[in-house]
Amino acid sequence: MKGTYSMPQNELETLHQYFGYTSFRRGQEEIIRSILEGRDTVGIMPTGGGKSLCYQIPALMLPGVTLVISPLISLMKDQVDSLSQLKVPSAYINSSLGWSDIEYTLYLASKGEFKLIYIAPERLESESFMSVLKGMNISLLAVDEAHCVSQWGHDFRPSYLSIAKLTERMNSRPVIAAFTATATEQVKQDIIDQLWLCDPNTYVTGFNRENLFFSVVRGEDKLQYITDYLNSCGEQPGIIYAATRKEVDKIFELLCKKGFKAGKYHAGLSDSERSRTQNAFSYDEIRVMVATNAFGMGIDKSNVRFVIHFNMPKNMEAYYQEAGRAGRDGDRAECILLYGPSDIHIQKFLIEQGTQSPERKAAEYSKLQDMADYCHTSVCLRKYILEYFGEEADNECGNCGNCTDESELSDITTEVQKILSCVKRMGEQYGANLTANVLKGSSNKKVFQLGFEKLSTYGIMREYTLNELVGLINLLAAEEYLYVAEGAYPVVRLGRRALPVLKGQERVMRKLRRKAKQEPQTADRELFELLKALRKQIAYEQSVPPYVIFNDSTLREMST
Ligand code: ADP
Ligand code: MG
Repeated sequence: MKGTYSMPQNELETLHQYFGYTSFRRGQEEIIRSILEGRDTVGIMPTGGGKSLCYQIPALMLPGVTLVISPLISLMKDQVDSLSQLKVPSAYINSSLGWSDIEYTLYLASKGEFKLIYIAPERLESESFMSVLKGMNISLLAVDEAHCVSQWGHDFRPSYLSIAKLTERMNSRPVIAAFTATATEQVKQDIIDQLWLCDPNTYVTGFNRENLFFSVVRGEDKLQYITDYLNSCGEQPGIIYAATRKEVDKIFELLCKKGFKAGKYHAGLSDSERSRTQNAFSYDEIRVMVATNAFGMGIDKSNVRFVIHFNMPKNMEAYYQEAGRAGRDGDRAECILLYGPSDIHIQKFLIEQGTQSPERKAAEYSKLQDMADYCHTSVCLRKYILEYFGEEADNECGNCGNCTDESELSDITTEVQKILSCVKRMGEQYGANLTANVLKGSSNKKVFQLGFEKLSTYGIMREYTLNELVGLINLLAAEEYLYVAEGAYPVVRLGRRALPVLKGQERVMRKLRRKAKQEPQTADRELFELLKALRKQIAYEQSVPPYVIFNDSTLREMST
């Protein structure tokens, strides 16, 4: 892994000389300059935006060595292999190496043989390792996937919290640069606080990925949709994400039976099985990867042409990160979310079963609501995403599923008024389901217990199915005519846009989606089966000896 190395003069020259690229991508140059000026730096760029070069180029230009903290063992090897091809002396240290290899690498490192050393964060918990680092001339500490330091991110790694202590113990404090694709304010602030960054420069490059085409598909038979989709798009490679291992197994089996070249990936498979399928996917031997969210952070396959979500993820950060694995080569790719009514229940169930603090749960519910709003909204999906991440956006991108929806615009003001007044009359204290039951005029027990059959709005929307009514209520919530107070039992209230509509001052025009196919029994049964499986898994986790704490990560493991 050693190579010949001469220190280049400037960043553009380094880019040419070592990486063979002609120009920087958005944000790279500023981030590199900031690091070279000795400032702590936070770089927030979308997946595929080119974060690695932002620390690799300074690493080549600074004296001493750059230590890269990365949670991704497979990625470390890939990066070191490609750096070695580019004649950049580099190494990695993680649990895939034996003791003698680690010792030899550390010996070479102490002699200053490397420009970059990649390490897994868990190493920092070893006292002996820390003392070796102390003797090295480390000028830059690059923290990749820095959202792992934040409990608010989607991938918290407790050992990331040791990074700050490391810098305290070094003879001279290196410059620290942190990189992530997670852009929320909370995560950014956590990165700054938990890594003890000093007055950092922060760069956020645009989150818009022009080549990604977003859509949400509702009320379809999901398995049928997937097979139709795969049949319609030739041999294009893609990923299908599902919420649980069980679902992954089910989809995988179906696809194999139908003759698609599929692979599967989740935390229940052995390390060797997982790396075998991941490699097969990288080399296009497998066309479709069916996976839980355990698959993907750091996969470097640039020609993924579609990412389909079989279930709604828990929040927009997770969604955009996963969907963003499509089209890293810049060519057109599709990001399709298949939404079904049971999705939200699965995610709620996972939050409810967690042992996190009540505040944390409340925050997770709120994020889940934003995710559900994405699935229900009829506004431009790209706009929704960009605004979620705090960016301004045009009203219509013109190419997402909502912008290109050709169904006719209809005036739904009367329907909206009926729903809003029903919510009002019910005292703004109940959920979407009960409201739908009242509007439908159903003989549901709870409706009668509460005396809602006497309301004037009881049965005023009889012609709709319960599912359609719940769908409408969700749409209105997504667009702020209604407001859903979060929690395990969400309550529907009037939203900030309700009054003008109730007063007849504003009309509501919407493209109404094709009516959902009516298969409530299948949906209910599916949900029931899923919850049953989850419960069983949890009962199992809780029956294992008490030293296994049932916390976030076991939950995550359970669902991945
Ligand atoms: P990220 O870590 O932000 O997800 P990577 O660092 O893995 O992204 O980069 C994604 C891809 O973009 C890589 O294949 C990388 O070589 C390529 N890339 C990065 N910067 C440039 C550049 N300035 N010009 C051309 N390609 C680039
Ligand atoms: Mg990266």
